[in-house]
Amino acid sequence: MSDVTTAVDIEISNLVRLEEDRQLSQISLVASENYSSPAVRGFEGSIFADKNAEGYPGKRCVSGCEYADQLEHLAIERAKSAFGCEHANVQAMSATIANFAIMNELFQPSDGLMAMRLQDGGHLSHGAPFHASGRNFRWCFYGVSETNEQLDYDEVRSIALANRPAAIICGGSSYPRLIDYEKMHQISREVDALLWVDLAHTAGLVAGRAIPSPFPHADIVTTSTHKTLRGPRGGGLILCKSSLANRIDRAIFPGLQGAPKMDLIAARAVLLAEVQAARFQDYARDVLSNAKALERGLLCAGTTLVSGGTSSHLLLLNVTTCGRTGDEIESALLDAQVVANKNPIPFDTLPPSKAGGLRIGSAALTTRGFDGDRFFDLGVMMAKIVTSGCNRNRVNELRSFVRENTQGLPLFNRKWVA
Ligand SMILES: *Cc1c(COP(=O)(O)O)cnc(C)c1O
Repeated sequence: MSDVTTAVDIEISNLVRLEEDRQLSQISLVASENYSSPAVRGFEGSIFADKNAEGYPGKRCVSGCEYADQLEHLAIERAKSAFGCEHANVQAMSATIANFAIMNELFQPSDGLMAMRLQDGGHLSHGAPFHASGRNFRWCFYGVSETNEQLDYDEVRSIALANRPAAIICGGSSYPRLIDYEKMHQISREVDALLWVDLAHTAGLVAGRAIPSPFPHADIVTTSTHKTLRGPRGGGLILCKSSLANRIDRAIFPGLQGAPKMDLIAARAVLLAEVQAARFQDYARDVLSNAKALERGLLCAGTTLVSGGTSSHLLLLNVTTCGRTGDEIESALLDAQVVANKNPIPFDTLPPSKAGGLRIGSAALTTRGFDGDRFFDLGVMMAKIVTSGCNRNRVNELRSFVRENTQGLPLFNRKWVA
């Protein structure tokens, strides 16, 4: 923050300073958080912030867009090469908005849409009754099997055959396992549905070539840019086959949004170059192996993980097996300066305000440079808090660990871009 902004508004700059201290001294295991690079952050709020560039490159509603056009064109080309797809739209304000825009433009209220149940790991923008998407369309849902808490593709297929949806959406917010896109593709073709992958959580792992890509199977891919992708918060990407390009662009503008935020598009463009460097592949690989280290620590100290573990950056701790609730564990961890969130688990009997689970992820702390050994220790200490019923000494032990390991540790480790 410059001296100018500090002098102009002391109240707000004070809050910025407090938030910075908080981020530095706590550790974030929030699976949907990350820290973007100083370069990405630096382009947010750049001079492009004030430019109205309503429309698309070459077809704007206002003039003076020659540099905005070049900028957006670069962002699009980088998105296409980062994900190996035919078309990209970089204007969505968020993945939630991207999802709703697509539903609005491509489907009729009478169309059937199919997605993963929220409680089983889906996302509220996939037809939750309290979300705008849930008020339109005929929704049907699939979920995880009771035996292994993983997707049962035979069940997905029979639900698809019974409901004949216009699109099958896959990808979620708290599903710790990878999705077999090839199988989902077969099912979608059998019922003549579009396959739509919401990649919000794992986009960084795909761009970093650490897990399989939804392409060429998916017809449409939507994603946030701020989770494992490590980009600016606020911002969605839509990636699709060229046959859908015009409809997808229309869905965003003029379908739902007005003018895009050009400074955010600049930050996205910087990010989309970063993710194509070899360092980002190292990062994605470390995110996966650190999640595994966390898994080992949590399991060896006696806690239960939904689906038995993880194949991504995300783990869902079932705390009910130790007689606890998610909100209790969330506050005990916060007391130890560890930030994570309570989350429903499949077949949860607790209300969402308590929840039977705690969702954690390795992406943000990997950005700070934590290695596997420290993730393992962290897993053991967190598990001891859960199994001991939030014993004071266990909480204090974790708080000391956090203090020692965050002292002087920046949010973004320079090794990822140096
Ligand atoms: C986080 C998430 C979103 C929403 O992302 P925003 O960019 O925050 O709107 C959409 N879909 C899934 C599956 C998510 O996990």
